[in-house]
Amino acid sequence: MALHKADRPAEEQLADIFTSRLSEAPLPKYRMPETQSVPRVAYALVRDELSLDGDASQNLATFCTTWADDETYRLMAGSLGKNVIDKDEYPQTAEIESRCVHILADLWNSPEPRHTIGCSTTGSSEAAMLGGLALKWSWRKRRRAEGADASRPNIVAGPVQVCWEKFARYFDVELRQVPLEEGATGLRPHQLRDHVDENTIGVVAILGVTFTCDYEPVADIAAELDAIQRDTGLDIPLHVDAASGGFIAPFCQPDLVWDFRLERVASINTSGHKYGLAPLGVGWAVWRTADLLPEELVFNVDYLGGEMPTFSLNFSRPGGEIIAQYYDFVLLGREGYRTVQQHCLDTAARLAEEVDRMGPFTLLYRGEGGLPAVSYTLSEPDPGFSLYDLSDRLRMRGWQVPAYPLPPDRDMTVVQRVLVRHGISADKAVLLAEDMRRALRELRSGAAGPGARIGFHH
Ligand SMILES: *Cc1c(COP(=O)(O)O)cnc(C)c1O
Repeated sequence: MALHKADRPAEEQLADIFTSRLSEAPLPKYRMPETQSVPRVAYALVRDELSLDGDASQNLATFCTTWADDETYRLMAGSLGKNVIDKDEYPQTAEIESRCVHILADLWNSPEPRHTIGCSTTGSSEAAMLGGLALKWSWRKRRRAEGADASRPNIVAGPVQVCWEKFARYFDVELRQVPLEEGATGLRPHQLRDHVDENTIGVVAILGVTFTCDYEPVADIAAELDAIQRDTGLDIPLHVDAASGGFIAPFCQPDLVWDFRLERVASINTSGHKYGLAPLGVGWAVWRTADLLPEELVFNVDYLGGEMPTFSLNFSRPGGEIIAQYYDFVLLGREGYRTVQQHCLDTAARLAEEVDRMGPFTLLYRGEGGLPAVSYTLSEPDPGFSLYDLSDRLRMRGWQVPAYPLPPDRDMTVVQRVLVRHGISADKAVLLAEDMRRALRELRSGAAGPGARIGFHH
């Protein structure tokens, strides 16, 4: 015992965290410590390190939920041990997942919302993979039945989020990315004919283009695919990537026809953790009707003495996000979602006006008709600074506002994008606009040149 006695009081007896053994040296990077610490100390040091991360509430680059009420925290804490794949052990979590699928099928006007099939995922990326896989399997079955070659599948889309590039690479499908036309921010229907053929497993339309935040014209894309079928016989299904728009359009643009009201739309994905308002870690994929999901892709797990079909890439996964999603549905209802999203749209539109008045920008999207967001480019030919400089400058005040080039064929155009989501108040938008004006003044006066620092006068 004597060997273990330290020269100083035991860790538990130390009042001060920063004189503990664990804080004597930098926290381990490559090897676990040999001995234990106490939760109070380990917690404080890890939390302290995390303060170097950006403030999520000032992150205007993300579509993802960064605010939650206390009840959500409590439901999440209460579900910490629940594994969604254990349907038999947690049948009510499974029931809640299934309710969410049917509620979404109804929200998106499936012809059979109570009977169609869908699943929760870790986000839109997994949901997109599953949507893409279903398209690939259905196409292959069709081709084989015709005795045709089924070795070179392709999928056609405009400027997609990276998850579709992943899908294409991981599952050996050629991604045919339709180049952006001059002045366009997404796929235009008349471009399709040159890109689809008998090996096209499907077309992806995006409700809320990642780069600019407006919607691709899903109904016109569907109509063009109808016309292509009339002219060529090719019957190509449409998948809608509604990662963000799936929770905006039904509430704030109810007359926009983009969902299962269009017969061409076979499947839809969305991110519950974006405008679905659930905490990070949940997405959804829903098929128009149950027969559109090939049964070869479905695995059955035990459920209340019977079996339940599942479709996912993961096995174990936390149940809390799904429960929190259902809580949001029950709490807010359609009226609540409409109010929350409309607030965001109003704030985005007001911010767009401010940005417009600042002078050097051309607005690409002003927060109307699509997602609650603003995107813009620099319009002055040579203002002496770039949007990357402006991003850096805003970062000094904690704001995370990304600048990036538009995807293929317009990659000379650099855009900046501000996302407004639940928790970004009108007040915050005004503070951001003030900081943007200040940053522009500094950039123009050269005060932001090399060596210049906010708040320091040499
Ligand atoms: C965010 C996004 C994705 C990826 O969604 P995750 O939920 O982050 O996996 C896919 N497509 C679009 C259009 C998106 O905006």
